[in-house]
Amino acid sequence: MIIMKMIKVVQGDITKMKVDAIVNAANTTLRGGGGVDGAIHRAAGPELDIACARFHGCNTGEARITPGFRLPARYVIHTPGPVWHGGNHGESSLLHNSYFNSLQLAEQNQCETVAFPSISTGVYSYPLDAAAQVALTTIKDFLQTSKSVQTVFMVCFDSQTLAAYQQAYQQLGIQ
Ligand code: ADP
Repeated sequence: MIIMKMIKVVQGDITKMKVDAIVNAANTTLRGGGGVDGAIHRAAGPELDIACARFHGCNTGEARITPGFRLPARYVIHTPGPVWHGGNHGESSLLHNSYFNSLQLAEQNQCETVAFPSISTGVYSYPLDAAAQVALTTIKDFLQTSKSVQTVFMVCFDSQTLAAYQQAYQQLGIQ
């Protein structure tokens, strides 16, 4: 059987995604915040914060997995992306690590479908075009050797984010 792996760039609300795992652009406390983090915690219900508290935080670029509770997604993978400090503070490798470590956790938990938000490009101020390059390159490379992960959605909340990821997608020649 031939299985087609793919990246799909879509516009929408990640809390509505019926996938095996959604990724949360968390902060290092893992105790919820604004933006997509707040939206995920509200939609999942209070059990999510109780589950996250047990980790006692998470370093930037690392990832942790919890159930999805009231979300349509089975799991939430939480990763704090880097705060942008001008680009010379390891931001791109930390952003790569957030995507890579999230995908590895998805793989270890037999996920076939994974959805990401645009990590670090909100309050953390990572430039959108540069972030899109790191995100899509990391996902594309990961899919070359993944066993369970088949389809990865980039869920863009607004049209500017959608345009940046669509452009990066074309530049990378992703089919
Ligand atoms: P960070 O702190 O990592 O920058 P933010 O939550 O501030 O995280 O922003 C990350 C991205 O998530 C932004 O593009 C923001 O518009 C987007 N976002 C906010 N809410 C949602 C949602 N419900 N679904 C998908 N993306 C969202």
